[in-house]
Amino acid sequence: MVYNISNFINENLLFPYYLIINQSFFPYGLRKKKMSFENLNLIKPLHKALLEEGYTNPTPIQEKAIPFILEKKDILGCAQTGTGKTAAFAVPILQLLFNSKSESKQNNAIKTLILTPTRELAIQISESFSSYGKYTDLRNIVIFGGVPQKRQTDQLKLGTDILVATPGRLLDLMNQHYINLNHIKIFVLDEADRMLDMGFIHDVNKIISKLPSKRQSLFFSATMPSEIVKLANTILSNPVKIEITPESPTVKAIKQGVYFVSKPDKKALLVHILKNESINSALVFTRTKHGADLVARFLNSSKIHAEAIHGNKSQNARQRALNNFKTKRTRVLVATDIAARGIDVDELSHVINYEIPNISETYVHRIGRTGRAGLSGTALSFCDPEERTYLKDINKLILTSIPVIENHPFQMKKMDNNAAQLENMSLPSASSNPEMKHSLLPAEANKKRWQGKNKFKGKNFKYKRNKTRAN
Ligand code: AMP
Repeated sequence: MVYNISNFINENLLFPYYLIINQSFFPYGLRKKKMSFENLNLIKPLHKALLEEGYTNPTPIQEKAIPFILEKKDILGCAQTGTGKTAAFAVPILQLLFNSKSESKQNNAIKTLILTPTRELAIQISESFSSYGKYTDLRNIVIFGGVPQKRQTDQLKLGTDILVATPGRLLDLMNQHYINLNHIKIFVLDEADRMLDMGFIHDVNKIISKLPSKRQSLFFSATMPSEIVKLANTILSNPVKIEITPESPTVKAIKQGVYFVSKPDKKALLVHILKNESINSALVFTRTKHGADLVARFLNSSKIHAEAIHGNKSQNARQRALNNFKTKRTRVLVATDIAARGIDVDELSHVINYEIPNISETYVHRIGRTGRAGLSGTALSFCDPEERTYLKDINKLILTSIPVIENHPFQMKKMDNNAAQLENMSLPSASSNPEMKHSLLPAEANKKRWQGKNKFKGKNFKYKRNKTRAN
């Protein structure tokens, strides 16, 4: 299905405001006037905390969303993780709650609910509220399933201003009367499209039916399929629409490269690359859970410490592996796409696509884990002959050809390699760039091509979902 987010929204929703921020037109470095947090009229406790986080300038979504949220408007945000979305809603929510604290008679009541699809995202959002709100006395609690409820219910009994929750556990605790949503003033629905993908939409609707009708609602989704537009219509009232084009933030700061390699050689190539100690941290993607285990085992047997994270592991084992990776105790984390949802690791240097995803957008999501918030990152992909069509689709989606890395010990036979390169619509090979050991064409060059092409497409930029080939 080919669809166009902007047209689709325009046809389906009539909103008074419409803000499109195409980051590929206005990347941080090229924008003439850099806005600072000073211009956003934030209260001192928040400003101080943001400075300590190292945030000097708001990201585009923060710049656009924060003033409207402070004006108590509803928001429809089309943006994915990696754009600074969490602070875009968390910071103004903290300010609104801080300013209304003295008026509030219900001091122990939950005033803000953030609903998010995964445990990992819930924890990250809660940590963000704690960091940004550390000079306020506002409390936040996070609840999610897969762990005993006792600790969560003990915390709930003490009261909280902000509740971050996944839908299943929230409904469960509501049914047990641990949670009452009658005093909610602000409701955030985060990653609405993933809620739908993961089959939570029924639970989400049940939760929404329990919210007071007079409230401010903020709705975020990376894509806007029709079910999501319908859902947005039922939740929001006169929202301001803000769209961050999904493809651009990733390509901007990330060096990309592809190795043509036979399937049996992939493990050895991975070890060869990871022996390079300048790689600080690497998130390796496999398509299957079994594959993730095999790769992690092989790395460990080759004396490269690695952990695997996927749906067959217990929540606690996943969280432990994730924490080890975040705190740099584990250098390599091998993950499936589902398990990696919401993983947000500051300063992740490398993403390695051990297997090329068969859905092109997944590539963009995967590589967006590195190169966060203006830092540089590297995304390497291993492409075996069977995966070449996937690679072609990705190149089409990102409007450039990922540079081919030639100088490595596991090159395929010359003929195969040539054919692969031709298919890849070969850009100049990366091997001439002396910048890195496995040199890559810097993404800056790609960005120029990207911007040049995208300019003509403007907001009618189309992107393609290869749903038919998803397995
Ligand atoms: P998010 O899209 O909310 O997952 O944020 C992506 C990453 O950007 C997180 O690691 C944030 O800590 C970081 N970040 C968010 N806003 C800013 C900012 N204004 N300046 C620098 N880093 C930021």
